[in-house]
Amino acid sequence: MPSAVLAAIGDELLSGARLEKNCNFMAKNFHNRGWELKRVEIISDEEDEIINLFSRWVGKVDLLIISGGLGPTHDDKTRYAISKYLGCDLYSDSLYDKVVERVKNDPRRLEYTERCRDPQAMIPKLAAPIFNPVGFALGIKFEKDGTKVLALPGVPMEYEAMTRQELPEIFSRENKNYAWTSIIILDVPEMTIANKIPEVVNNKNLHVSILPAFPQVELIIRGQPLQVEDAERIIRKQFPDSLPRGCTSIAEAVLFEAKAKSVKVSCAESCTGGLVGASLTNIAGSSEVFNGSAVTYSNEAKMKILGVSEATLKNLGAVSEQCAAEMAEGALRVYDSDFAVSTTGIAGPDGGTELKPVGTVCFGVASKAGTKTFTKKLPGGRSEVRLRAVRFALSELWKEIRK
Ligand code: ATP
Ligand code: MG
Repeated sequence: MPSAVLAAIGDELLSGARLEKNCNFMAKNFHNRGWELKRVEIISDEEDEIINLFSRWVGKVDLLIISGGLGPTHDDKTRYAISKYLGCDLYSDSLYDKVVERVKNDPRRLEYTERCRDPQAMIPKLAAPIFNPVGFALGIKFEKDGTKVLALPGVPMEYEAMTRQELPEIFSRENKNYAWTSIIILDVPEMTIANKIPEVVNNKNLHVSILPAFPQVELIIRGQPLQVEDAERIIRKQFPDSLPRGCTSIAEAVLFEAKAKSVKVSCAESCTGGLVGASLTNIAGSSEVFNGSAVTYSNEAKMKILGVSEATLKNLGAVSEQCAAEMAEGALRVYDSDFAVSTTGIAGPDGGTELKPVGTVCFGVASKAGTKTFTKKLPGGRSEVRLRAVRFALSELWKEIRK
């Protein structure tokens, strides 16, 4: 199994001002291809830190990818660290002309990129340039003591494009000796799942991850293709209500099921503020089945847009199953859809009462067959409550369409 180390350079990543994305992106792809990822490191924008990183890993792994520090500003130190580490000077590589070619018809950008030629075209003499198909900074590659090193820009869009370009074997080649699968099970606690499939979890030749995220548990199984296939068969037999094969989220399952049944869906959202609609429209092809989502935050909006009755709001409140039912029925009518789901709740941190504490969320699922409602007390802060509410709403919508 080839081995790799990933590192991201950036003070903003260490301080928590930005969430690291590049190593996470590559980690997933290494895993999918059966590579052994030995370590992920985040280091500061300092030459010595970068040189120490090389000393730690060059000669020890097959591939080392570092991201960041290739831009034109004072905090971009990667190229200087590499030239110091390799003990050579820098030169200006003509590959930069090809990168600049893209903006030749835009005088303002051309002027800017030309001003950045030095340092963005500078490559250590004992290394080679990497074409940047998206941005302007060239990447840098070299090999030393059996380790291939790639230094790529930190901007996630550029990093992704350049890893795809430089490592086609990871992104395209099927590995005959290695496979993985993901199975999502709803409404079953993780321990119950584990106890029901001992032959899978105790199989030493398989790597099994059990990842709960209310109301789902995702099982990721990795190993020899035939063994992974066997495991998937056992799991699906034990849990026939798991999401369809190939669906990596509940939103995907909703779209899959709605397409299969040729039905349209819509939403009415209060506390989730459009997140249910966003998770559906995040998936390509959603327009085939998704009609729209009404974000009705105020009582007035709930009444005017969805036709929720004043009496319901006055007597039972906006966070009530009756309100959720009327919201879902309103969305069904307004969007002329076959299925609609609604959310209304208290995401916090304020607004809770003794009867309806923070985290209380009511849901409605409406269709021509009738309306169902649910109330959940979801744990966590505002963001967690909202994300849990989105997944729960979608899971109940999926079950209703699937019937
Ligand atoms: P480049 O090498 O392209 O100049 P850089 O890291 O030197 O990349 P910055 O100006 O520091 O350039 O970062 C550009 C943007 O990319 C910033 O918004 C930064 O937060 C983001 N970024 C850099 N590295 C990462 C990373 N590993 N994950 C997520 N975002 C990142
Ligand atoms: Mg940076």
